[in-house]
Amino acid sequence: MSTYTYWKKLSHHEIQQRVFTALDQNVNYKQQNILGIPASYLDDKVFSQDESFLKNAPFISTMVQNPNHIGCHTLGSSEPFFSGTQHIEEEVIELCAVDILKAKPKSCDGYIASGGTEANIQAIWIYRNYFETESNAKSTEICIICSEDSHYSMDKAANLLGIDVQKVAVTSNTREITKVTVKEAISSAKEKGKKYFIVIANMMTTMYGSVDDVSCYTDVLLAEQLPFKLHVDGAYGGFYYPFSMEDNALDFSNEHVSSVTLDAHKMAQAPYGTGIFLARKGLIEYANTQASYVEGDDFTLIGSRSGANAVAVWMILMTSGPFGWFEKIYILQKRTTWMCEKLTERGIEFYRNDGANIITIKASSISDKIAHQFGLVPDSHSNPKWFKIVIMEHVTLEKLILLLDELNDN
Ligand SMILES: *Cc1c(COP(=O)(O)O)cnc(C)c1O
Repeated sequence: MSTYTYWKKLSHHEIQQRVFTALDQNVNYKQQNILGIPASYLDDKVFSQDESFLKNAPFISTMVQNPNHIGCHTLGSSEPFFSGTQHIEEEVIELCAVDILKAKPKSCDGYIASGGTEANIQAIWIYRNYFETESNAKSTEICIICSEDSHYSMDKAANLLGIDVQKVAVTSNTREITKVTVKEAISSAKEKGKKYFIVIANMMTTMYGSVDDVSCYTDVLLAEQLPFKLHVDGAYGGFYYPFSMEDNALDFSNEHVSSVTLDAHKMAQAPYGTGIFLARKGLIEYANTQASYVEGDDFTLIGSRSGANAVAVWMILMTSGPFGWFEKIYILQKRTTWMCEKLTERGIEFYRNDGANIITIKASSISDKIAHQFGLVPDSHSNPKWFKIVIMEHVTLEKLILLLDELNDN
């Protein structure tokens, strides 16, 4: 295990102190004369602001004070009203980039987005503008290239940004892209006049937990001397895979990786609204839009957003510390392997990436009724070929045994 630049376990008391100190550095609508912001604390007729209730609750206190984190706080200037909690966001971004994704200190920008969808769109938006600005590319010459198992946010991005998406085929049983299928996708894109490529590599897909061999993309694109930018979609795997497979090519140690999406509201069990966008410095500026009423430039897709989300992610990471996080992932890995062994003993066909906590069972090996009874999720609701089990914190062996018992009886 590596050493950590920023990440360390803090006690409850330390966490509380840090958050309350940050809140003290934000404006206080109650105590100060703040007359010009179209915002306030949460409606106190609805949300309790009782001292005794809030004094030991740093997250709820942040919710109640309702800081706005509009803009990006890792570069330039920001709204001064909420600098305390914005500083916590800056710390979370730097921690994720350096201590989870192996970036050099102070080499990345980023922000807490509404989710993985927004973070992926943000990346594609930046690269579309990058190619248009730096290479005079027409939007018809730019395309997204990603595997057929990629999240549908790529299709949303393509639709919104007016560029095409070219899908790379995966092998059915192993869910892998290959150099051959990447070459095929690139040649059909070239036939359609595409010259600039926005590559999205998966660090665990939503349905299979599969991880792309990113060299399939980079080797082929470099050999063909095609300009590309590479974004990693770690919305699902970003808080998992770097711990189950420490040496991987999907973080900033790979010089070709320009940006990464993480979602704290999946494996990190944070509240919704905690997607994380991270990019190497010098890129997020391509998404600059001026908002004259906000201090500083805004480089983000979203506008107003809650500072409580950044505080939640920070509190979660600091409560567990890096070794606590390894332990959490270690347990989920063990459970997943245990379940795979039991399925194999029963002759049930499934896919699992060794570094992932998703087991995707072939629909031919399990009845619709059992899949339904245990809340397994199909790849397609109209014609399911696969059903997935996701081994989360609450998916314990006791619960998995009930599923195995049902499978025995059928
Ligand atoms: C969930 C997910 C997304 C989208 O994230 P949201 O937070 O739901 O917007 C994108 N990519 C992958 C791989 C995902 O699993």
